[in-house]
Amino acid sequence: MLAHGLGRSYGDAALIDGGKAVLTRRLDRMLDFDPETGWLRCEAGVSIEDILETFVPRGFFPPVTPGTKFVTAGGALGCDVHGKNHHVDGCWSNHVRRVELLTASGEVVTCDREQEPELFAATVGGMGMTGIILAMDVKLTPIHNPWIAMESIRVENLDHFFEVSAQSSSFTHTVSWIDCVKRGKGMGRGIFMRGRHANADEVGHASALTKLIEVADPVMAVPVNGPNWLLNNASIRLFNEAYFRKHPKGQKNVLQHFEPFFYPLDFVRDWNRIYGKRGFLQYQLVVPKTSDNAPLRAVLDAITKSGMGSFLAVIKEFGDLSNGGLSFPMPGVTLALDFANYGQPLLDLMERLDAIVVEAGGRVYLGKDARVSRATFRRMYPEWEAWKAVRDKWDPQRVFQSDLGRRLGLVGGAA
Ligand SMILES: Cc1cc2nc3c(=O)[nH]c(=O)nc-3n(C[C@H](O)[C@H](O)[C@H](O)COP(=O)(O)OP(=O)(O)OC[C@H]3O[C@@H](n4cnc5c(N)ncnc54)[C@H](O)[C@@H]3O)c2cc1C
Repeated sequence: MLAHGLGRSYGDAALIDGGKAVLTRRLDRMLDFDPETGWLRCEAGVSIEDILETFVPRGFFPPVTPGTKFVTAGGALGCDVHGKNHHVDGCWSNHVRRVELLTASGEVVTCDREQEPELFAATVGGMGMTGIILAMDVKLTPIHNPWIAMESIRVENLDHFFEVSAQSSSFTHTVSWIDCVKRGKGMGRGIFMRGRHANADEVGHASALTKLIEVADPVMAVPVNGPNWLLNNASIRLFNEAYFRKHPKGQKNVLQHFEPFFYPLDFVRDWNRIYGKRGFLQYQLVVPKTSDNAPLRAVLDAITKSGMGSFLAVIKEFGDLSNGGLSFPMPGVTLALDFANYGQPLLDLMERLDAIVVEAGGRVYLGKDARVSRATFRRMYPEWEAWKAVRDKWDPQRVFQSDLGRRLGLVGGAA
């Protein structure tokens, strides 16, 4: 069996062919909250959306949030999710002090950094394979209001991105959209966004969009699958050009509501349908930073040469916090790409990207993966064996499995 939250992981992490998916969404109670410290004790099916609805009016925010609010606390810990504030605050697990886990023996084990610390560490980013998280203590961040003081800067190429990124360490949240079909001098151009929760005296004006959020959520929906030809190299190139040009040269400063800042995709229900029936694949990598960032350039070069552009691409520098085991973030630069499913040519491209990433000492995010090979995975996550030893100790009968775990050799005895 396998815990399944809101199913927002992109690949096979929350799937179990022929097994039982344990739907955790009804574990939705908030058990305790201390407004003095921000510690929330909640069940694992409580979603980030639930936390926002309950706590933003009370002056608190999730400590870390991915690019969608439709994820559960259990899923956030299972994938050890990161957000725009990784360089300051690390991952979800860095704000969790205690976990209640239903283990394979049927026993509920409370684990933290002192009590069963190995089990706690293996559960962080453990992709559901150590048991079913029932509840956790997570520390919320105090805020004054729902606004984000945001600056957006047009960056002209990859060097410019790193320059702006280096100047942005005082901002708690940073991320950049990147035009990954642009070649030559403009390779790596994009729009860099940096922000922080607004001060008490910084209150924005509710835009028509923000008002709409309150009455309809999500605001729009893609009603049918788009035709397969909709997203092709030419249309992606056109979109990227227009998006880049729409932003004036230089910098814009605004007070933005947190919803469009953190969750732009959540406004469009079933946004994945724009890829058509063939669907799409995500590829998120991290590589250590180097003086010339040659691996990153090699990745962008391979993509532009392939003619398979990524429709949505974001780049961000991670901070130094790394949680080991199967947790994805490590010091370096992360690039997240969405490719329409071009079939075998895309899988071939991804293998070429894997080779660059492994060579550079990097890895791909398991929460967004559906195809990396066992051998490549082992080179990307050298701690896998130690992680598996803990998992096997707690689950010798292999009660908890997933398609991802089987593919990567994490739940079986055989090498
Ligand atoms: C639009 C979009 C943007 C995203 N942006 C980001 C981002 O910025 N950063 C980032 O890190 N991720 C990002 N993600 C990925 C997403 O945050 C993670 O995959 C997250 O884990 C999904 O949560 P979920 O509740 O849907 O979990 P699921 O997808 O259902 O499960 C994910 C994994 O967690 C395990 N799991 C779930 N619940 C439990 C439980 N109770 N006990 C034990 N294990 C459990 C599952 O077994 C599975 O292995 C994004 C996804 C989308 C769709």
